[in-house]
Amino acid sequence: MLLVRKQRYQIAREEKSTTSNKERGHKIRRVAMAELPREIQTWQMVQPTSRNRETGEVIPGRLERASVPVPELRPGDVLVEIAGCGICHTDLGYFYDGVPTVSKPPLSLGHEIAGTVVAGDEIWIGKEVIIPAVMPCRQCMLCKRGRGNRCLNQLMPGNSLGVYGGFSSHIPVPSTDLCEVKDRGEIPLSHLAVVADAATTPYQAAKRADLQPGDNVVVVGIAGGVGQYMGQMAKALGAKTVIGIDIHPQRLKRALSYGADFVINSADKGVEDVLNEFRVISKENDLPEYGWKIFEVTGVKAGQEITLSLLSYTGKLIVIGFGLEKVEYALGRLMAFDAEIIGTWGCLPEYYPIVLDMVLNRKIAIEPFVETRPMSSIVEAFEELYRAGSPERRIVLRPDFQASERKG
Ligand SMILES: [Zn+2]
Ligand SMILES: [Zn+2]
Repeated sequence: MLLVRKQRYQIAREEKSTTSNKERGHKIRRVAMAELPREIQTWQMVQPTSRNRETGEVIPGRLERASVPVPELRPGDVLVEIAGCGICHTDLGYFYDGVPTVSKPPLSLGHEIAGTVVAGDEIWIGKEVIIPAVMPCRQCMLCKRGRGNRCLNQLMPGNSLGVYGGFSSHIPVPSTDLCEVKDRGEIPLSHLAVVADAATTPYQAAKRADLQPGDNVVVVGIAGGVGQYMGQMAKALGAKTVIGIDIHPQRLKRALSYGADFVINSADKGVEDVLNEFRVISKENDLPEYGWKIFEVTGVKAGQEITLSLLSYTGKLIVIGFGLEKVEYALGRLMAFDAEIIGTWGCLPEYYPIVLDMVLNRKIAIEPFVETRPMSSIVEAFEELYRAGSPERRIVLRPDFQASERKG
């Protein structure tokens, strides 16, 4: 399959270099036409999990096989044949926890997508791409002020891109913000799906933190799906010290090979105990008690409380993890510390090529943290991830619609 795709890619490339503009357009469009499906095969969230308010009875959600017509592509749009789509905690939130999607069900979930352009805007055809998880409108005030990652009119596959999402054979998207994958060497395209979200979100977070070479950093939740990239990203951007905090001993050990200089296991410990361990590490290594950049990636109360306790003089606390639990904090401490608490959402598409380069140059490792599975196992994968809470590896689903049809 990979080989076929590579050949196809090469054909499009060769034609580009040997033919005139006019011929090129004609030929490439024909290559695309031969592959253009009439329907998109997909897994739809027909209905999210719900709870009967009176009886408390849980009504299970439904993820079902479906097909939707390929829409007419507007100028600038492309159709991407999906190589892989990662399952994000956000997808589980939509399916299990009542977090509403912008487009109402039925719709396909999935926003962590890599694939190959097969139709639409000619200059993109045959190219391998990563689709940004959030695509800003480029028109509004937020976009114009450089805050497009939190644009209110943004498009997000598997949420606000109509019925279309990544757990599908194909997806129509605007080409404006696509990130081209030029030379991925031995890394499978499906693995690069994690660049669309898990690996790019930490880059935006580092920007929000104004992370500089020589900074001292703490990542609370360093063993999780995004946290492990946050640790690697901080190191790759030149952090002097990275201290990782989490509750999984094996994964904390692994983090020491991927970004972390020191780790603290916070399992079954109170906030004070964790704080004391942090102080010991700081003291033994001559680290200052000011200026720490602390990233909260767990989204849970226990992690947030640790993060808040670590915030000190001129420090920055950056919230990347999402959760609805409430914590108590004396805001006056911010004043006394001259410190900041900052939220961060998604990642600007213009940063994607930078992160992709870091991955392709092996400054950030993705392969030890990714596992691919056939898309037909989506129901089991969702269940497993929801039960596991924090999975060992990111699960990327590869479309297998034809194979699963043959099996019946
Ligand atoms: Zn996500
Ligand atoms: Zn906008």
